[in-house]
Amino acid sequence: MDKRNKMYKVYLKPGKEESLKRFHPWVFSGAIARLEGEPEEGEVVDIYTSQKEFIAKGHWQIGSIAVRVLSFDANEAIDAAFWKRRLQTAYDMRRSIGIADHPDNNTYRLVHGEGDNLPGLVVDIYARTAVMQAHSAGMHLERMVIADALAEVMDGQIDNIYYKSETTLPFKADLYPENGFLKGGSRDNVAMEYGLKFHIDWLKGQKTGFFVDQRENRALLERYARGRSVLNMFCYTGGFSVYAMRGGAKLVHSVDSSAKAIDLTNKNIALNFPDDTRHAAYAEDAFKYLERMGDQYDLIILDPPAFAKHRDALRNALQGYRKLNVKAFEKIKPGGILFTFSCSQAVNKEQFRTAVFTAAAMSGRNVRILHQLTQPADHPVNIYHPEGEYLKGLVLYVE
Ligand code: SAH
Repeated sequence: MDKRNKMYKVYLKPGKEESLKRFHPWVFSGAIARLEGEPEEGEVVDIYTSQKEFIAKGHWQIGSIAVRVLSFDANEAIDAAFWKRRLQTAYDMRRSIGIADHPDNNTYRLVHGEGDNLPGLVVDIYARTAVMQAHSAGMHLERMVIADALAEVMDGQIDNIYYKSETTLPFKADLYPENGFLKGGSRDNVAMEYGLKFHIDWLKGQKTGFFVDQRENRALLERYARGRSVLNMFCYTGGFSVYAMRGGAKLVHSVDSSAKAIDLTNKNIALNFPDDTRHAAYAEDAFKYLERMGDQYDLIILDPPAFAKHRDALRNALQGYRKLNVKAFEKIKPGGILFTFSCSQAVNKEQFRTAVFTAAAMSGRNVRILHQLTQPADHPVNIYHPEGEYLKGLVLYVE
């Protein structure tokens, strides 16, 4: 069946084309007046204004975001050449800014959804393997065409493409995605980040197996680690811990409630610093650990999971950040440094800052902001889609 011959038209309500005129890549279901044809989820639809003028085309999906825009050009076909062009642009950008083809680094994000004009698609590169993740029905349906285009663009750079979308697709769509290799099949999963080695668990790990987005912040932490006693709270794969070790920390304690995360952390420390007794890892709940720990730490990292996955959960999330940070402010040694993060998209920079400020005030400590951190350049923010800015961090000096 050739779907390309089918034409589906989405007509917007009057005035609802304004955000598309500013190249925002989403159409909300409430903006739609009527639909011509019966597209299935994941098929490409053309979007028209109430004046019946073409404005964009994209993947159709049932839900609050009804269309994810792929192109604003009526003449641009969504075919194999389209995917290749978009992936090539993403790769060229990363090469031109020195992230791809880096002598000490082969861990980076090649495609960051809206940030690369490919809403619903994420591709992370781990050495010779690309891990591809679909967050929309459209990207799921196109996965083989995208994988072919990816293999062409990355020819000679990668051997394997692993597809990992079991937990990222809406389940109402009845897509039943299965995780597995679309190309190759190597299980060699050690990748390099700025000269440090990491086991990447793309088979079972969270996200695509690693939190690529903290790379630059981990590198910054390394510069502050010398001689310090470090607590890496919510350590997952131990990324910050490994950098702290290389930075010359006196001791590094990694904590995560997941026993699997603690195994991964121990493996990654052993891979880089075998038999180094400065490191210990504990499987324990963050709040319990912070409550019972003493005041031995003078460098603390708080990188919790997204507390607010949806807007309704915002209040609880802000309370969570406040509670967590109060504990760190209360216990950190005088002259200590706190790296504190939020990766919740629903919490903006100001809200996160306010939660951390409130926590600081509650502890009564004197606190200065040293750095304001965000996501790295391989997780670019589409300027027309400010929601894409999700990672927020503060580095604080606590007197
Ligand atoms: N800092 C990590 C990423 C952290 S992801 C990195 O740089 O890669 C968040 C982690 O928090 C997950 O590993 C999850 O297992 C852990 N976690 C979730 N709830 C927790 C809790 N209540 N206490 C401790 N760890 C928790």
